[in-house]
Amino acid sequence: MSANIRFSIVVPVYNEEAVIQETYRRLRSVMDLTAESYELLFVNDGSKDRTSVILQSIALTDPRVKLIDFSRNFGHQVAITAGMDYASGAAVVVIDADLQDPPELILEMIAKWESGYDVVYAKRIERQGETFFKKMTAKLYYRLLRASTDIDIPVDTGDFRLLDRKVVDELKKMPERNRYVRGLVSWVGFRQTAIEYVRQERFAGESKYPFKKMLKLSLDGLTSFSNKPIKLAVSGGTVLFAAGFLYLLADSIVSIAGRAANGLNYIAALQLLLAGIVLGAVGLVGEYVTRILDEARGRPLYIVRACYGMGKQERRASRIV
Ligand code: UDP
Ligand code: MG
Repeated sequence: MSANIRFSIVVPVYNEEAVIQETYRRLRSVMDLTAESYELLFVNDGSKDRTSVILQSIALTDPRVKLIDFSRNFGHQVAITAGMDYASGAAVVVIDADLQDPPELILEMIAKWESGYDVVYAKRIERQGETFFKKMTAKLYYRLLRASTDIDIPVDTGDFRLLDRKVVDELKKMPERNRYVRGLVSWVGFRQTAIEYVRQERFAGESKYPFKKMLKLSLDGLTSFSNKPIKLAVSGGTVLFAAGFLYLLADSIVSIAGRAANGLNYIAALQLLLAGIVLGAVGLVGEYVTRILDEARGRPLYIVRACYGMGKQERRASRIV
């Protein structure tokens, strides 16, 4: 990999033959304005059309263009991850191939990065040319995710963002498989800021995110950053158990008071008690499962931004170089 490249632009592509030439042209003209060294890193996620052939021929004529060709479709988030693995720039920008994210914004991101931010993400203040269904589900989902986790995951934000080298290096250490990259970027911390933009209509072609893929992505986001659904089982179980207990108590008092006890009431109370115990037990198992999951994810326990007043030796001792 060539050393000292300033900017890497990572572009995941899946069946984008209708736009890819134009995307390359736009990216190149924007990046030429920076007068810095850069690479355009296309990750072809198992396209079945001519995407790969087109990119190969572009790579032949332009040495700044690189192509990673997957053996099959591994998914958008995996393609982005591969791009980061191969990128060598001091800053890495991830951008969709369909020009919904205007490449011109990269210049704004670079300016923020140069003023000291480590992550500059692009927040959509409006979406053009997308269905009502997509707009609504996206809006709801981002808010649900945000409400259910302690990590500061910004709403209405996709993967279009600039990452400093040190953030990319942290992401590369994370081995988890069902990746929700934008969540992981929030998770690593450092100095993050947003720029706002209007999400454009697709330049050509159709969305490569059918409902099934969208559902998988949203579940990955929720399960990677929230344990709330499992906690719901525990608290639901406790409430049921308490209700059952009180009901049983009330039944007993009534029968002790000498009134004829109603057998059905007892059964209802026992049902509540049992359901509470079962749900609580399931939640308890869930608590163990989330802990196993946490261990299995293998995320680092902490990330150090910098150390002060320490020699190189000391820093190395604590595994920070
Ligand atoms: N993409 C990918 N693999 C997939 C699906 C999509 O690499 O399995 C790429 C696609 O080519 C595009 C980006 O991910 O560059 C976002 O996809 P798309 O624009 O279809 O999603 P939408 O904007 O409709 O949510
Ligand atoms: Mg798109």
